[in-house]
Amino acid sequence: MKKVRAISLFSGGLDSICATRLVMAQSIEVVAIKFVSPFFGDDIIDDVAGYQTGIREKFGIEVQVVDISNDYLHMLRNPVHGFGRYFNPCIDCKVLMLEKAKSMLDQYQASFLVTGEVLGQRPMSQRRDTLDVISRDSGSRPILVRPLSAKLMAPTEAERRGWIDREKLRDFRGRGRSRQIELAASFGITEYPPPAGGCVLADPILSRRIARVYEGTFPFTADEMTVPDIRLMLLGRHFLLPGGGWLVVGRDEKENDRLDSLAEPVDLRLHIEERPGPLGLLRRGAVCYANGEDKRQDLGHGASVITRYAKKIGGVPAPGMVIVAQGEEVVELVGMSCADDNMANWVI
Ligand code: SF4
Repeated sequence: MKKVRAISLFSGGLDSICATRLVMAQSIEVVAIKFVSPFFGDDIIDDVAGYQTGIREKFGIEVQVVDISNDYLHMLRNPVHGFGRYFNPCIDCKVLMLEKAKSMLDQYQASFLVTGEVLGQRPMSQRRDTLDVISRDSGSRPILVRPLSAKLMAPTEAERRGWIDREKLRDFRGRGRSRQIELAASFGITEYPPPAGGCVLADPILSRRIARVYEGTFPFTADEMTVPDIRLMLLGRHFLLPGGGWLVVGRDEKENDRLDSLAEPVDLRLHIEERPGPLGLLRRGAVCYANGEDKRQDLGHGASVITRYAKKIGGVPAPGMVIVAQGEEVVELVGMSCADDNMANWVI
């Protein structure tokens, strides 16, 4: 008999672990898909194999990692169902992931989709009417099984056709996690990530920074922003300088290295050589200015920010010689160590 196969949307949280294992317990082959974007799961991209091994060893789940960054940036421009408390378009996010997963059914010869959603667990995105909207708008209603709350919902085609035994599914409802914890324990799983967290768009500070792009209060429009730009937005200190430039400054060596790896040929790199200090990137500084005066002004401001965060001398910020480089071209500027009051007007 042909083996039944399903695709599970795997966030890596307790609910998706439980939902995936509950379906696997019915001898159904499950391909778990971990979607990533600059806003969630981005660190996985650096070591996909390590992530897969960790999930296999900890939870007994085979996971595939799928990068949906470009589609996600596009969706974020105009999410049909709007945003949650911060800049989190949870309903459209789920719709997008389900659409993606649905488009992969043939590739994996899978018959239905699985999510770890629990009825009533979240105020907006997991109400019954919202769950209905998500399954409707993603075009996945007949084949979307939510194993943790399935008994509280109308049977899906997967249940009606006998691909999965509805009687073995659950009727979890609400915010509590005790039943999930009990279920996970029955699979021998006792360690799992804490609830929530992990999505930058639901972070009060980082989401505000990203929202500026989409609200038009950022030097570059949403159309101009690339995936590496978004990665840059989530790193270091950020300044919108008076001349219109976007300066990103590393807070430690690790961030300096990461900034360096995200630098592009049209970026201007600022650093101080005579004592330890941060790396600054004036994003597209070689091409973004309408006139030389704005650029000259911003380089001066940028140099003053770099010296402000360079190692202090005698316990106080001190001036220093700042190197501004674009490829092989290098100029030196005296940075006067910016006053905190001034700098506060530029911080985002
Ligand atoms: S919190 Fe983030 S990842 Fe989770 S549904 Fe909302 S937008 Fe998507």
